[in-house]
Amino acid sequence: MNRRTMIATMMTAGATLSIAGRGGAASGAFDVTRTDAEWKAMLTDLEFKVMRKEGTERAFSSALHDLKADGVYHCRGCDLALYSSQHKFDSGTGWPSFWQAIDDGAIGTKRDWKLVIPRTECHCARCGSHMGHIFDDGPKPTGKRHCINGVSLVFKPA
Ligand SMILES: [Zn+2]
Repeated sequence: MNRRTMIATMMTAGATLSIAGRGGAASGAFDVTRTDAEWKAMLTDLEFKVMRKEGTERAFSSALHDLKADGVYHCRGCDLALYSSQHKFDSGTGWPSFWQAIDDGAIGTKRDWKLVIPRTECHCARCGSHMGHIFDDGPKPTGKRHCINGVSLVFKPA
């Protein structure tokens, strides 16, 4: 490794750290891994920003927000089934919302310290793609609100 690559690597590591904050990045050991170049080739700019850089789509911008059809929401990054229409509800926030994931193992979480108040970030457990955040103000029976970026999901009708 020459000096220039080393500096670049260090800068990348620093950038990743500041994005992920404490608690480990969503770039750990996942079953599905791709380089940034590979992700960029398969995603739009917005999808890449949201899914790989923990960005957030504009509220009410997702066509999936108002969708009430029966079906399953899959990870856009690796096609893993993440959420079911059975657990979807209208949270009024402008983002597709679910009170639980389709399976406990489908979603990974970590602490997100980007804002003053720590939040629970959630991502696809198979490829690490950022989904959104989980809050404690959801409906029964879980009381959880998975606030998810529509661009991270692909809906498959039942
Ligand atoms: Zn995935």
